[in-house]
Amino acid sequence: FPSTMMDIPLTVQNIFWRVERLFYDKPLATYTESGEAIRSTYGELARNVHRLASALAKEGVREGTRVGTFGWNTQRHLECYFAIPCMGAVLHTINVRLFADQLEYIIAHAEDEVIFCDRSVLPILEGLAGKIPTVRLVVLMNDGPEPTGKLPRTVDYHEFLASGDDHFAWPTLDERAAAAMCYTSGTTGNPKGVVYSHRSTMIHSLVAALPDSVNISEVDTLMYAVPMFHANAWGLPYAAANAGASQVFSDRFLDAERVVNLLDREGVTISAGVPTVWLPVLNLLDQTGRKLPKLQRVLCGGSAAPPALIAGLRRHGIRLVHAWGMTETSPLASLTRIRSTMLDWPEEKQLEVAAKQGVIVPTLEWRIVDLETGNEQPWDGKSIGELQIRGPYITGTYYNDPTASEKFMDGWLRTGDVATIDPLGYVQLVDRTKDLVKSGGEWISSVELENLIMAHPKVLEAAVVGLPHPRWQERPVAAVVPKPEYRGQLTADEIREYLADKVAKWWLPDEVVFLDALPRTSVGKFAKNQLRDQLADVAKR
Ligand code: ADP
Repeated sequence: FPSTMMDIPLTVQNIFWRVERLFYDKPLATYTESGEAIRSTYGELARNVHRLASALAKEGVREGTRVGTFGWNTQRHLECYFAIPCMGAVLHTINVRLFADQLEYIIAHAEDEVIFCDRSVLPILEGLAGKIPTVRLVVLMNDGPEPTGKLPRTVDYHEFLASGDDHFAWPTLDERAAAAMCYTSGTTGNPKGVVYSHRSTMIHSLVAALPDSVNISEVDTLMYAVPMFHANAWGLPYAAANAGASQVFSDRFLDAERVVNLLDREGVTISAGVPTVWLPVLNLLDQTGRKLPKLQRVLCGGSAAPPALIAGLRRHGIRLVHAWGMTETSPLASLTRIRSTMLDWPEEKQLEVAAKQGVIVPTLEWRIVDLETGNEQPWDGKSIGELQIRGPYITGTYYNDPTASEKFMDGWLRTGDVATIDPLGYVQLVDRTKDLVKSGGEWISSVELENLIMAHPKVLEAAVVGLPHPRWQERPVAAVVPKPEYRGQLTADEIREYLADKVAKWWLPDEVVFLDALPRTSVGKFAKNQLRDQLADVAKR
């Protein structure tokens, strides 16, 4: 029988209402190429959001119209995050690092009509001129080159704002309507579109801020070292705004020096990034002895956080909170927290827990399934299976994709990750299905080998891939980047000896190749496909 509760939709408009009415005096800082900060407040942001929504409406943008963003982390990008969904249009954050043909595909697939573009990446968008017919207007944000006239219509952000009114009357929205969309970078086939609803965005924002999740409150200052086009910077811009936390925007600059400078200068309390952001940061802190006393925790996910990284940051008083998620899961689905019952555990054992991908957050459920038998596996920390997940902010399909059903099983999203779950509910990712090394009918976890190698004191980064082998089907090959001071001084035998008492003999990499850098994907993970090609001639030897 019906409840007595009001049926008020959960929408991004409510997050914006809080920002405007409660947190207008809270600071925002956007760093530019010169290293200077543009300082502002949520109040100023709110005024721009009204003008932006009104200007878009005058431009003919309606409920459901897709409006793309093509840029890095800036306050203006956050203005788009609010103006577009709050007026009922759909914010499509486009990954600027994708290849031209992928960009062409997703812009056409999403049917973007307007794109907000950073000038620093304008040449990339201009390279698509003539191939993105749905786009009728490009709004230029930030510094950089002027348009060359290839794109049909461009307008400067300031001018565009000036064409809008101070007050925009927000429409009443259906909470299940689309608010934002992201495409997964997809290593094979075309990128797949995930469409977030207002409701899913609101629930994700609330869950992300919980104490045992990221723990975001009004007293915090956040700087996400995750691009705002990577699963909407892991949903943190909305979660931070909802909580009233200050935000620092680092534009496109994610090198260790810049990240540490900004964390320091702005007194950032919470940051977030993939391991390839934090590995060089740790090295810099180790080398220089610099301190970040205000920084309490960094959220780390996207690929497995090596235990050596977790322990290393802890030496500097920084807690790494390991998180797991995907574009399809909004993305924060699990996080690792040390439980009350574990506080008196030895450091070593706590580190083991911290290196797992954590427990599932409120509102979601997961299971592991043996893909051969289709049976659900027990939570014993040993049985492995595909991780499957469901919940109110997990995608239930892909946008306009006839092959979508392959990625779902009885109402669960198939993550393509292979994992164990222990009796306390902590998941540990063994590998991505496609990255497992299949050797002589057995599996070798590339992640586990990488983590071990990255614990070697002379190693900066490492990635392991399986390469074809005539007898064993595949064998592991490790690509290792030594720390700068050990370049040319580290040998393959040293790595193998180091691993010898840590893994079974048949897990030892056949080859260890030393590189100056590892290839990275568009969102900064180690690009295993590219590495596999790069190392292919090694296997032929
Ligand atoms: P893409 O596949 O384009 O990289 P996502 O950024 O959505 O898209 O990546 C999701 C995948 O990243 C997950 O399926 C998982 O394989 C990997 N991943 C995310 N977080 C972690 C983590 N903490 N440990 C290991 N792998 C992770």
